[in-house]
Amino acid sequence: MSIKASMRLRTYLSIGGSMANLNFTMSELIHSDTAIKHNINNMPDINSLDCMLNLIVYCLQPVRELLKKPMIISSGYRNALVNHLVGGAVDKYGNAISQHCRGQAADFVVNGMTVQQIIDIIKKSNIEYDQLINEYDKWVHISFVKGKNRKSSFKIG
Ligand SMILES: [Zn+2]
Repeated sequence: MSIKASMRLRTYLSIGGSMANLNFTMSELIHSDTAIKHNINNMPDINSLDCMLNLIVYCLQPVRELLKKPMIISSGYRNALVNHLVGGAVDKYGNAISQHCRGQAADFVVNGMTVQQIIDIIKKSNIEYDQLINEYDKWVHISFVKGKNRKSSFKIG
């Protein structure tokens, strides 16, 4: 873990959180069926790990506690190659620009809830997020960028 990430973790622990209270693990956010299928090493770099820890502590965990239901992460961190294979966002030069590639975003579903229901509940809360997107009514995309959250929410597809 990077120094930044471990400091962030210490901050989380000092505000009353505990590792045992976290419902998410880094491996859940790193796992990728596409990476396994293509034998790609999807390990994030240090900066992405730091962003992923922020995403968990400030965004995913509060959402988990708000919904009081298990969240199934379908996609978290994706390196540029994995992002390309799953058709993730790229710029006009073909470079990966998806927030998934920086460890700042995760896609998830909750059994028994529609994507829009989940989004409406999060929007009414004071949970900080950068983008909260209903993607094709199939999953929720949520991202967190510490200090730069735009709190924008929309639907695609
Ligand atoms: Zn996404």
